[in-house]
Amino acid sequence: RRDSRTVRDYIRTIVDFPHEGILFRDVTTLFADARGFRMAVDQLLAAYAGEDIDKVVGLEARGFILGGAVAHQLSVGFVPIRKKGKLPGAVISQAYALEYGEAVMEIHDDALKPGERVLIVDDLLATGGTAAAGISLCQRLGAEVVGSAFVIELPELGGRALLEGLGHEVHALTS
Ligand code: IMP
Repeated sequence: RRDSRTVRDYIRTIVDFPHEGILFRDVTTLFADARGFRMAVDQLLAAYAGEDIDKVVGLEARGFILGGAVAHQLSVGFVPIRKKGKLPGAVISQAYALEYGEAVMEIHDDALKPGERVLIVDDLLATGGTAAAGISLCQRLGAEVVGSAFVIELPELGGRALLEGLGHEVHALTS
C-alpha cells in the first residue's frame, strides 16, 4: 500500500519543553525516517527549483542537518551561522531579541563573497528573530539572500510577517 504520510505526519510535539507551557515541535522524528527526511529535503529543493543559488546557509543547529542535505543536492557549498563563540575564525556578529533578553549569532567574515546568492535554511520559523539575524549577517557580507526555507512555520508568532515586511521571501513546508 502506498504511504500517504506527509512531512507534517513525521513531526512530533513535546509538551512543556523546554519550559512549562511550550509545545515544542520535534523534527528529530522527521530526520530519523528515511522517507520523511528525503521528502522534507526534496520539498525544500522544489520550492527553489530554477533559482540560481551559490551557497546554502544553515542556522544552528537543525538548519545544519537540513541545509547540509540541500547544499549537497544542489552541489553548492554550505555555510554555518552559529551562536556566539562557536566559530573558530574571525566573525561578524548580530544581536537579536529573545523573549527574555538577547542572543548573538555569528558567521565567519570570509564565508560569503559580495554578490553570492544564498538560501537560508532552518527547521522552524517562530518570531523570525533568528532568521532575520541570519539574513542580516549574510547581507552584511554583501551576499544576496534569495530566500529563507523552513520545514515548519508557526504563523501566529509573526515570523513570516516580519521577514516579508523586510522584503524577504519565505517558504515553509507546513505549519
Ligand atoms: P524564532 O527566532 O523565534 O523564529 O525561533 C526560531 C529558532 O528557534 C529556530 O532556530 C528554531 O530551531 C528554534 N525553535 C523555536 N521553537 C522551536 C520548536 O518548537 N521546535 C524546534 N525549534 C524551535
